[in-house]
Amino acid sequence: MPKKTLLASLTLLPFLLGPLALGIPHSISAASGTSAPAPRTADPVVARILELGEQDNRVQEHLHTLCKTIGPRLTGTAGYDRAARWAMEEFQSFGLQARLETWGEFPMRFERGYSTGGMVEPAEVDYTFTTSAWTNGTGGPRRGPALLEPTTQEGLEAMKPRLAGAWIVNAEPAPSAELRRDLREACVVAKAHGYIRPGGRSERLLMSGNHKVEAGKIPEQVQIQLLRSQYDGLRARLEKGDAVALEFDVRNVLTDGPVPCTNVVADLVGSERPDEFVIVGGHLDSWDAAEGAQDNGTGCATAIEAARLITAAGGRPRRTIRFVLFGGEEQGLFGSRGYVEAHKAELDKTSIALIHDGGGSVLSGLDTSYAMLEDFRQVFAPLVPDERFPFKIGESDGLLNSGDSDHAPFLRAGVPGFFWNQSGQGYDRVHHTHFDVFETVDPAQQQRSAIVVAVGAYGFAQLDHLLDRTDAAVVEPRRMGVSLEGTRITRVSGRGKAKDAGWQDGDVILSIDGTEPKDRDAVTEMVRHGAGKKVFRLKRGEEIVESTIDWGDEDSEKQRGERALRREAWMRDHPAAASR
Ligand SMILES: [Zn+2]
Repeated sequence: MPKKTLLASLTLLPFLLGPLALGIPHSISAASGTSAPAPRTADPVVARILELGEQDNRVQEHLHTLCKTIGPRLTGTAGYDRAARWAMEEFQSFGLQARLETWGEFPMRFERGYSTGGMVEPAEVDYTFTTSAWTNGTGGPRRGPALLEPTTQEGLEAMKPRLAGAWIVNAEPAPSAELRRDLREACVVAKAHGYIRPGGRSERLLMSGNHKVEAGKIPEQVQIQLLRSQYDGLRARLEKGDAVALEFDVRNVLTDGPVPCTNVVADLVGSERPDEFVIVGGHLDSWDAAEGAQDNGTGCATAIEAARLITAAGGRPRRTIRFVLFGGEEQGLFGSRGYVEAHKAELDKTSIALIHDGGGSVLSGLDTSYAMLEDFRQVFAPLVPDERFPFKIGESDGLLNSGDSDHAPFLRAGVPGFFWNQSGQGYDRVHHTHFDVFETVDPAQQQRSAIVVAVGAYGFAQLDHLLDRTDAAVVEPRRMGVSLEGTRITRVSGRGKAKDAGWQDGDVILSIDGTEPKDRDAVTEMVRHGAGKKVFRLKRGEEIVESTIDWGDEDSEKQRGERALRREAWMRDHPAAASR
């Protein structure tokens, strides 16, 4: 899944958690006057979860099994099925009721075997490369000349007699789409071996693939994605006229399906309200050129360890905690969409869905709507944040689909779905690349995250009510209809408030209602808050222009006003929340 998109928490209400400040029953804290660390909860189960989480945390064992014993877990492969069975049995070993639930099928089964390849003439060089999932292999070692992709029609015509059994190396810059298409057609006719294209920046091989394949219609030509530096070296040789031969043995195997696709669903059944649910999870599927460690082994491992910690602590929650490891996330959130569809009847009583899919950096908080604030603070009060492991509950104007992961189908169905806040540090480099391996994950951060998930899951399951969904939906934000670079308008779009107000490309925003915005985010922030009518001072060439934009005629503005009143009333009724 998706990189974590930066999520603007609209009204952040930072605060520090602590038992005293929260008025939590202090039977334990009152008793201790010695050097024992200050207890953070009166609930013995939570206290035990914290203790076990610090002294006997096994989250990295789960991750290690997923990454090293099982390996990549592309949906619809044997690797995925192995992982699903293992995870189900793991949950069962903690006493949970676990099963596999089928959400659909993929047309063909894909298996990626061990592949080798490189330059064989004029020098021998082993290559680091990958191919897209659900594409053909070579069917044995295929050796042939490397030809630099032609950039003109004449070049293509001249090359046609040599295409049979050749490896075509992409030109840079790329030729026209039309010429490339003509080349592809000629390669099919002549039975070229395949194409070589460069990987991403920083020597990253990027993983992807289209699962919608049909037997007999899969291109024979193999698409090799080569490490950027090796591709550059290869292309340089060809450009200076070297005769180069390549050989690849790509062991991709596609077999007829359909392949049933599953989620792992494991219930720690509630003691009082078994038909009410708290959902905790991540996605079990991964791309397959690495180990899917950060995306999303980390999220599965924290869910599994949370289940272990809660049960090992003797937790028998009031409502059911349902651990779900989804499949098909990378192909379009299939597992979570299928879950929401199949469990429609339970969604009213599904209090929350907490999805950990932002990699290995520590879970550092959640942003929620005002009506859930107090509950969130209560649930996470036992966590004591520090510099290393910050944790903050923020207030947002409705639940945003940050990250576009498995919480999104829940949000769309009206269930409070959350994507944990994380710094995302180190994630971009590995995300969907061949670098996504176990060794990139920091054990300390993962251990803390497992504790956070366990405390959250148990806490929400213990509340005496389901979470309040009032105003959980996002009100359409105010838009200006401009593209910004810093505070400079690079483009005024054809429709929108800015266009109506006569703004021009190149205008620079000097101030909004008298305040100078320092960057693009500040502009967005200032536009979204406060009155729905704002005065802008713009610099246009040598001129200073004053311009008023009024959103007052929009439906969303009315909704925003009504919502602000409801929030105010809620804050009056909840002075403790308001005072933070
Ligand atoms: Zn993911």
